[in-house]
Amino acid sequence: MKAAKFKYVAPRSLEEALGHLGSDPDAKVLSGGQSLMPLLAMRLAAPSVLVDLQHVPGLNAIEDIDNAVRIGARVTHRAVEHSELVARRVPILSLAARHIAHPQIRSRGTFGGSTAHADPSGEWPTVLLAVGATMHLQGAAGRRDVHADDFFVGPFTSSMEPAEILTQVSVPATWDRWSFQEAAVKAGDYGLALVAAVASVENDTITDARVSVGAAVGSVTRLREVEQLLIGAAPDLNTAERAARVATDSVKPISDIHGSSDYRRNLVGSLVKRAIVELKNGA
Ligand SMILES: Cc1cc2nc3c(=O)[nH]c(=O)nc-3n(C[C@H](O)[C@H](O)[C@H](O)COP(=O)(O)OP(=O)(O)OC[C@H]3O[C@@H](n4cnc5c(N)ncnc54)[C@H](O)[C@@H]3O)c2cc1C
Repeated sequence: MKAAKFKYVAPRSLEEALGHLGSDPDAKVLSGGQSLMPLLAMRLAAPSVLVDLQHVPGLNAIEDIDNAVRIGARVTHRAVEHSELVARRVPILSLAARHIAHPQIRSRGTFGGSTAHADPSGEWPTVLLAVGATMHLQGAAGRRDVHADDFFVGPFTSSMEPAEILTQVSVPATWDRWSFQEAAVKAGDYGLALVAAVASVENDTITDARVSVGAAVGSVTRLREVEQLLIGAAPDLNTAERAARVATDSVKPISDIHGSSDYRRNLVGSLVKRAIVELKNGA
């Protein structure tokens, strides 16, 4: 099947891009095209205008700002994967990046595109929810910031307005420990279950923690019962085993042709245990 007819524009500024989006409710942003183009080809989406962001300046930087690493929406998965700044300041992104598809797709697909797409199986949505990232959005009326807790509101659904553009994402660099775990049938496939975990640790006690799950659930979700168990506990094997049991009991997994809900429930428990063991070791 071929895509339905659409108009293509390649604006040279954010204002121009916002103008196109604001003047046609069926216009859509195009970034790396690695999710949108297949949807067009299958006619699961039929926008009237594609607003290509590739020539819009100011969306391509990775910067160290205010205890956070700020990543431009047009930065590719591969640039994140190979960034020395990312590896040093927010290593969970380097760990997760290598699980996204294959190098060819990582070279075209973008950080902002994946975040905006809000795929429940996406590595970035799962990680950004765990770390408590902030999304920076620009609309015709101005700029606003949305915390990850309020951004991912459902499967393939974010709280962005149709005429807004995601410009950057700020990833807090303040966590002491980080872990990303994924189970997939083979390398490069979408995962069957993803778990991202971060913690602050003082005197061998976890003082704060956030844990999220993707792919095994209908929408990226925090495992709040696991977070409650972790806070005040020692990052040790005993805590990891208890956290795994709580995750197994509390997660609400999906069931599909790739795996039953019981299978995914156990997978999430195993990944949570691995994640907490990695937090223990200071990954
Ligand atoms: C074979 C294959 C395997 C893949 N495997 C994985 C995988 O394992 N894990 C994974 O996470 N992804 C996977 N992907 C998807 C890939 O990561 C995409 O790059 C990503 O989901 C979308 O990024 P993009 O830049 O390609 O966005 P696009 O496809 O251009 O856009 C995606 C959506 O986001 C919107 N959008 C894009 N940028 C913005 C913006 N700045 N502001 C507002 N809206 C915006 C678009 O309008 C569109 O609705 C795979 C893709 C393919 C083709």
